[in-house]
Amino acid sequence: MNYQDLLYTAMRDARPAIGQGRVADYIPALAAADPQAFGMALATVSGEVYGVGDWERPFSIQSISKVFSLALVLAHGGDYLWKRVGREPSGNPFNSLIQLEAEGGIPRNPFINAGALVVTDRLQTLTGDAGITVRDFLRREAGSPALDTDRNVAFSEAVNGHRNAALAHFMASCDNLENPVDTVLAQYYAQCALSASCRDLALAGLFLARHGVLADGSRLLSGSEAKKVNATLLTCGTYDAAGEFAYRVGLPGKSGVGGGILAIVPGRAALCAWSPGLDSAGNSMAAVAALDAFTTHSGLSVF
Ligand code: GLU
Repeated sequence: MNYQDLLYTAMRDARPAIGQGRVADYIPALAAADPQAFGMALATVSGEVYGVGDWERPFSIQSISKVFSLALVLAHGGDYLWKRVGREPSGNPFNSLIQLEAEGGIPRNPFINAGALVVTDRLQTLTGDAGITVRDFLRREAGSPALDTDRNVAFSEAVNGHRNAALAHFMASCDNLENPVDTVLAQYYAQCALSASCRDLALAGLFLARHGVLADGSRLLSGSEAKKVNATLLTCGTYDAAGEFAYRVGLPGKSGVGGGILAIVPGRAALCAWSPGLDSAGNSMAAVAALDAFTTHSGLSVF
């Protein structure tokens, strides 16, 4: 398999979608992203890394952080977490309040904002600093010691995060948070506002292709738990368009409003594509197009 050629082909096929869609601006600090930027990286389980375009340029990882915080909590055992958050697609926008109230403060899945707040809350209890734990995990797995939270983005999220605050306060009223609301929100923003490149994220996501094994050969998750994370990514990882993403790309994946998408080819590789223009569901138009082209040309999907 010539991965480098496949990435060039994917970039060529995605080119018409670069600059399409809307850059997220509900977090004002994200609005400055360059709509013409595009990068894609692939890391294999045997240790090779390939990239095209802006694959080494850091961007705001936003909801892709939810993959890592979930895995870090599950490493301590999932039984308790799964009582506090479900694992069904939400069929609603990622920051919806209505469903959370109708379902008594138990979020549908760990990848919508309410669910990620519960995961962050749990990680905070387990580690004492959820944001630093996620950051250090990314630093280690990517081999990027300078990788860090963009304080400007985190601040911008905090001062404009009324919906997230509403979700968190509602869950606190249902006894579904262990830590103070302000602590949970600050830790959540610290992880969403991490800046990392496609290269960093492909390397950091590789443990899910290695069935739970980290870069140093130690195990974070059992093979069975890694399977469960990948299954949840497939069904819930790309907002309210997970069906369309599965149809086009056929891989477990997680998108973020910064325009990145991390996708896993179990047993083989992790990929990350990035371009800031989003479709109406919140997924990067060019990143989806590139991943679609990659799996179509390579035949590498879970189906
Ligand atoms: N920090 C963003 C928020 O809470 C994450 C959204 C996303 O990437 O899905 O709205």
